[in-house]
Amino acid sequence: MRSVSRFMPGERLEDALAAATRLQTAGIGVILTHLGENLASAGDADDVTQHYLHVLDETHAAGLDAHISVKPTQLGLDFDPAFCTRNLQRLIDRAAGYGTFIWMDMESAPYVDATLALYRQAREQSPLVGVALQAYLFRTERDLEGLLPLGAALRLVKGAYLESPRVAFSKKQDVDANFFRLACRILDRHGHPGSLLHLATHDVALIDRLTEYIEAHHVPPSAFEYAMLYGIQEPLQHRLAGAGRRVRVLISYGEHWFPWYMRRLAERPANVLFVIKNLIPGAGR
Ligand SMILES: Cc1cc2nc3c(=O)[nH]c(=O)nc-3n(C[C@H](O)[C@H](O)[C@H](O)COP(=O)(O)OP(=O)(O)OC[C@H]3O[C@@H](n4cnc5c(N)ncnc54)[C@H](O)[C@@H]3O)c2cc1C
Repeated sequence: MRSVSRFMPGERLEDALAAATRLQTAGIGVILTHLGENLASAGDADDVTQHYLHVLDETHAAGLDAHISVKPTQLGLDFDPAFCTRNLQRLIDRAAGYGTFIWMDMESAPYVDATLALYRQAREQSPLVGVALQAYLFRTERDLEGLLPLGAALRLVKGAYLESPRVAFSKKQDVDANFFRLACRILDRHGHPGSLLHLATHDVALIDRLTEYIEAHHVPPSAFEYAMLYGIQEPLQHRLAGAGRRVRVLISYGEHWFPWYMRRLAERPANVLFVIKNLIPGAGR
């Protein structure tokens, strides 16, 4: 479907690798993620693990500056946390051998405790592992304080799931203010060994404010990267990279794109209009 292809270069790993090669030419690194979540069988979670091991081999052989990003429920968290841990450990070992990063996505609120527990274990195994934190959750400020002493690598996002107002800010301005506050708190700790911040947002006003903060506080370029999704704010991605900033684009691929695509649509009402225009022949061209 044309409207999905706006956010992903294709369903196959080859499509993602070709996009990664193009971005690398423009000085932009990537994070590869194979779509899928809430897997229910050990066989499927094992296939995902094997797939990511293959991705790490391929990107290393191709000389790509590529991280990978996994969802714990893709590795078996829902039905066997110990199995999930073992799968993650295999990926971390392979990534560490190649000197590359592996990121853990943060899924919906009920998974936060288990994901952070997995992360703490993973961080003991390798410093080249990071976890996403969601600025819309009330709890994130406290979670962050627990992670900072580890010198954790963190991806700060606003949060993509529909959460209850009991656990999350519902107003955009509150989420944005919390994002800024949390990012500054992490940037202030930039000297800690192993720490890295991914400023994962397409919000231009927020990026500008954070860039001003970074410059005013002399945060070194090694401490952070701007991270965005494939197909969103591309001119900004290229502008930042052209200005010598470290930029990384998350490329999603795979056949199981439906829930992920629904989250992309929900982020921006204009996207829904775009889809409708594509469904009605002749409309909106
Ligand atoms: C690298 C990366 C990793 C992520 N990992 C996670 C994760 O692990 N867990 C999680 O919950 N969420 C994750 N997200 C998604 C994130 O939580 C937000 O849902 C998403 O980034 C949109 O929020 P925003 O910060 O861009 O701000 P918004 O305020 O939503 O958007 C700011 C501007 O960006 C543009 N924009 C944003 N989204 C879209 C879109 N879908 N289509 C077109 N334009 C758009 C628009 O111009 C919009 O005005 C990740 C995002 C990125 C960039």
